[in-house]
Amino acid sequence: CFCELEGSINDCSCDVDTVDHFNNMKVYPRLQSLLVKNFFRFYKVNLKQDCPFWPDDSRCAIRFCQVENCEEQAIPEGIKDQSEHRDKAASFKYTREAQLEKGCSDAEDFDSALGFLDTSISDQAHKEFELWAKHDEAEEDFCIVDDHDVDAQYVDLLLNPERYTGYKGDSAHRIWKSIYLENCFGGNNETANKFSSYMPHMELRDVCLEQRAFYRIISGLHSSINIHLCSKYLLSETKDFLDPQGIWGPNVKEFKRRFSPETTNGEGPHWLRNLYFIYLVELRALAKAAPYLRRENYYTGIAEEDEEVKLAMHDMLTVIESFQSHFNENALFSSGIASIKFKNDYKEKFRNISRIMDCVGCDKCKLWGKLQTQGLGTALKILYSEKLNLATESGIWDKPHIEADPIFRLSRTEIVALFNAFGRLSNSIYEMENFRRVLR
Ligand code: FAD
Repeated sequence: CFCELEGSINDCSCDVDTVDHFNNMKVYPRLQSLLVKNFFRFYKVNLKQDCPFWPDDSRCAIRFCQVENCEEQAIPEGIKDQSEHRDKAASFKYTREAQLEKGCSDAEDFDSALGFLDTSISDQAHKEFELWAKHDEAEEDFCIVDDHDVDAQYVDLLLNPERYTGYKGDSAHRIWKSIYLENCFGGNNETANKFSSYMPHMELRDVCLEQRAFYRIISGLHSSINIHLCSKYLLSETKDFLDPQGIWGPNVKEFKRRFSPETTNGEGPHWLRNLYFIYLVELRALAKAAPYLRRENYYTGIAEEDEEVKLAMHDMLTVIESFQSHFNENALFSSGIASIKFKNDYKEKFRNISRIMDCVGCDKCKLWGKLQTQGLGTALKILYSEKLNLATESGIWDKPHIEADPIFRLSRTEIVALFNAFGRLSNSIYEMENFRRVLR
């Protein structure tokens, strides 16, 4: 079977079989139970942002493209209040910890001084501090985060599973084309037509590691999205008691059309392999951020569940850490000044891809497209964050009394996107096993 991939994953020190086993036995079941928890299921996003590149060609008349709104009361209060609390807490702790570190141990004096400062120096200075802190943080971002927009809304991801929607044709092709040709390095229009690939496998050998990695990441994401639509395909519109919209399940024919060598001029299996590449990239990012993620509260205000999530998270991160060293982020951007430019180009291109997601003409696809690019952007931010490196080197994670938030920080939205995006990749690898079984 063409999806029976063998051997090592390009540019990584690991083979496909090992990832299959690790994911399907260890990661997938853990993620399945984690991602249904309240903290992870409500994702705040702006789906109403206009496309900045071309006129709207929305296909949202398609029934399966609609995003179901969630009831306001379904969202735990702790989540709704949280973004505000986190911002305030971070700027306050920063000042306070800085004082304590300097040996200013009289907390009461400090509190009253703060009270005085608050009223005398006024809100203005506080606001300026916050603006600078935000600017500083955004510098490290690989992605546009829009959860503070007035149009941003909470979406219940469990009510809106990623699956076949019927979104295809010019609108979908325009998005993929724009991503590969304008925002990847070296994508080629001619080869796209001739070989039905934006960067044929043979040509990848001739480009540098950074360019290859970028293409592989995007192609892996593309594969994952298409595997999902094949594995949750609309098999019949007959009403089902489980889902009034119809009967959904795997469509092997569709999977073969998209990935077999015969229909893709030999590229399909390479595209599937790229899924494993992006999986290892995101896995490495989770492992790198593990000390930070262990300190997170995963607060929803539902005490029992919050405690459960923290425990499950510890367990999950330990598993991930045991398998982390198969992608080496330091192999990229390691050749001096040229690398700094390369890294900035990466950021710029990636931010652009996150803007392109506002042009997706199907709301359900846009939702998952935005979530997955944001999750990937967060993974890249973790891998290449100077602040995280500094915090790790200083051993700050081992000192429980020091809040590391101001040094390196992820918002709740970034954490939700990071884990759900990784969950999608994990799910795709799991689904591949199902397709293999049927095709055998
Ligand atoms: P496409 O998948 O549109 O691919 C276009 C071209 O890209 C192919 O002809 C081939 O040359 C190349 N290509 C294909 N796969 C790869 C790869 N892995 N790596 C490199 N090159 C490749 N549809 C749904 O039903 N549900 C969804 O949730 C959904 N989400 C989407 C999210 C986004 C952001 C986008 C842009 C599209 C989404 N779609 C979704 C649409 C889906 O991805 C396809 O575009 C659509 O099904 C049409 O498929 P196609 O066979 O024409 O090829």
